[in-house]
Amino acid sequence: MRKSREFMILAGLWCGPTKPSMNFFLDPLCKAFDELEKGVPLFPEENEDEQIQAFLLGVSCDTPARSAVLNMNQHNGECCCSKCVQSGKNRRTATGGNVRIFPYDERNPTGPKRSHEMMLRNAREALDSKSTHVNGIKGPSVIMFCPRVDCVKSVCIDYMHLVCLGVVRLFLKLCFDVTHSLNDFSLYRYVDIVDQRLESIKLPHFINRQPRSISEHLKFWKAAELRSWLL
Ligand SMILES: [Zn+2]
Repeated sequence: MRKSREFMILAGLWCGPTKPSMNFFLDPLCKAFDELEKGVPLFPEENEDEQIQAFLLGVSCDTPARSAVLNMNQHNGECCCSKCVQSGKNRRTATGGNVRIFPYDERNPTGPKRSHEMMLRNAREALDSKSTHVNGIKGPSVIMFCPRVDCVKSVCIDYMHLVCLGVVRLFLKLCFDVTHSLNDFSLYRYVDIVDQRLESIKLPHFINRQPRSISEHLKFWKAAELRSWLL
């Protein structure tokens, strides 16, 4: 119900040749949350005593927007994860691009954890030291000071890019792409069987799209198809 258009409030819209400065763009919204934390009358004309309060509990945005909203390094920069402070390593891709990789650390696979307090401290340190970033944080962001918001717990991960189009697609490529067919983990020799089974699946009503063949169409699979595969 909360996703239906009827219950959404368009609070801001930016038109311009470049993306907005997030602190400038979000400032009015954060000021509104300051007011809502104190409480505002529900029916100002009738009854001043009946007050409502509202708090920002969750922030949902895609990965590039998340970096801007939290004023932190982009997804290919050092310490770019909003949940931990692993620095990661830069890796050149075959096509000349750069990606950030996080080699698996058996002793501490998901840590050291980031916390909201650490983010505030790092933002202050980055500002004071005039360094480009401290633990990936480039400086303060207005969202850090919204009442009750926790910049680590409240900010969702970008499921579409990171999980569906990221990890799920990578695993499918590793398993079924001809370029890995000589590796022990490859399932390339079974791809026709998997395709046949995909085609014969009777879909439940909440999945709209009949799965397409892995051998011919994997590079065109949409995020929703990758999600259906995962689930
Ligand atoms: Zn992390």
